Amino acid sequence: MALQISEAELERIVRSVLSELTGNGQVKAGSGGAVVNGQSRTVDEAVDAAAVAFEQLSACSLEDRKRFIEAIRATGMKNKELLAKMAHEETHLGRYEHKIAKNETACKLTPGVEILEPRAFTGDHGLTVHDWAPFGVVAAITPVTNPSSVILNNAICMMAAGNATVVNAHPSAKVCSMKTIELITQAVVAAGGPDNVMTGVLEPTIDTGTALMTHRKVDLVVATGGVAVVRAALRSGKRVVAAGPGNPPVVVDETADMPKAAKCVFEGASFDNNILCVGEKAVVCTEAAMRPFMVEMRKLAVYELSASELDALMKQIVLTDGTRPRMNGKFVGRNASVLLESIGVRGREDVYLLICQVPQDHQLLFLEQMMPVLPITTAPAVNAAIDLAVEIEQGFRHSAMMHSRDLAALSRMAKLIDATLFVKNGSSLAGLGVGGEGYTAFTIGTATGEGMTTARTFVRERRCALVDYFRIV
Ligand code: NAD
Repeated sequence: MALQISEAELERIVRSVLSELTGNGQVKAGSGGAVVNGQSRTVDEAVDAAAVAFEQLSACSLEDRKRFIEAIRATGMKNKELLAKMAHEETHLGRYEHKIAKNETACKLTPGVEILEPRAFTGDHGLTVHDWAPFGVVAAITPVTNPSSVILNNAICMMAAGNATVVNAHPSAKVCSMKTIELITQAVVAAGGPDNVMTGVLEPTIDTGTALMTHRKVDLVVATGGVAVVRAALRSGKRVVAAGPGNPPVVVDETADMPKAAKCVFEGASFDNNILCVGEKAVVCTEAAMRPFMVEMRKLAVYELSASELDALMKQIVLTDGTRPRMNGKFVGRNASVLLESIGVRGREDVYLLICQVPQDHQLLFLEQMMPVLPITTAPAVNAAIDLAVEIEQGFRHSAMMHSRDLAALSRMAKLIDATLFVKNGSSLAGLGVGGEGYTAFTIGTATGEGMTTARTFVRERRCALVDYFRIV
């Protein structure tokens, strides 16, 4: 049915939009009604305010977007300690200094509008250009493990793509998440942009998350979290980018640079107490690599659990009262010293990572533990080690690492594990661009296959064909 609209009505709408803009194309702050600085009591208000912001953002130029992105980066950097402190105090997960590093990485290494390179085809029939248009309002479901860094990363990507975003944060990280949103919106407004380019629900729950993902004004759902939220997002009926869980294994063979391999595994598995989804969760050494690898690991800030200590720890950290074993939330993301205290080993604040040698079928190899406790097992030779790593990864297609100088073995593992991030001879952090090349992402599209998300993930493709002219050679 054609939309019937009178000239007077059209003029009223245009005037109302123009009245939101100042003379120089900049947008007045506070134009989202009840929602200011992105803070909203209800999903509807949050979405409505973001929808208004999207319209206003659409009237801004690419240069404006670049300026707004610089403002987001700057406020993230200025407040990286504050946001890390708030996240650490609210969630009790990870380590303060590592949360600062994550905020810094999100601000510095998330690509902006430069990633949206147009594509062109020229030929006898003229010139065709592919360009990238925003989706509109994006629903972002964010995790407790990286609250401010995911939001900063998502905010830069969405702004570069020209979208407005509504966040449903993890309930256990709502305060630091809403503070991040407030700082982002204030920075964009101060740079002359619309208010509420990012909004969030002050009291997020699973229900508000579901209401947001299925809201009629939401055009795209971006879910970062575990299996349950991935499933919920896929049920939303919208286009979905699902950044789900993983269980990243590491293979170490006897050709590896052993001191480097141990250092990298330690760095990745101990970083933020191993709550990063990419972090090393299990190691498979070849029999020939096991002894030299353990020699190097023991030189680092680790505590090697005996078999009986591991048994005692498993009783603390794994809950078996449900249909399937799961990690005890009380210990997720806690320091290694807290895990040790639970089995009666006190005063080891110097320890950053617990290590333990386990048989190939040990439960801990197959659980995404999100704790600084790293199971290490052996396989007879490199092919068997790779095959076991594939089993440990369980088809999440998330991340995997390998330390080897055997090119054929490295290639075999890359092919078989088919992970979104595969790091060779480096720590998992290198896959995020820290100590490796390339940009960063804190939302890694695993279940739906987008990989390291950027603005390029959050746009619609548009083709414009000019026929028979404009080929200039
Ligand atoms: P989580 O799944 O408990 O929560 C993530 C978000 O989803 C939260 O906002 C939560 O409220 C929401 N949620 C959970 N179940 C839901 C449901 N049924 N309906 C609607 N919303 C729901 O995960 P977490 O503990 O916050 O984060 C850790 C998990 O996230 C790990 O499994 C980790 O591997 C994964 N993760 C993945 C990536 C990635 O980029 N692939 C990044 C970070 C974390």
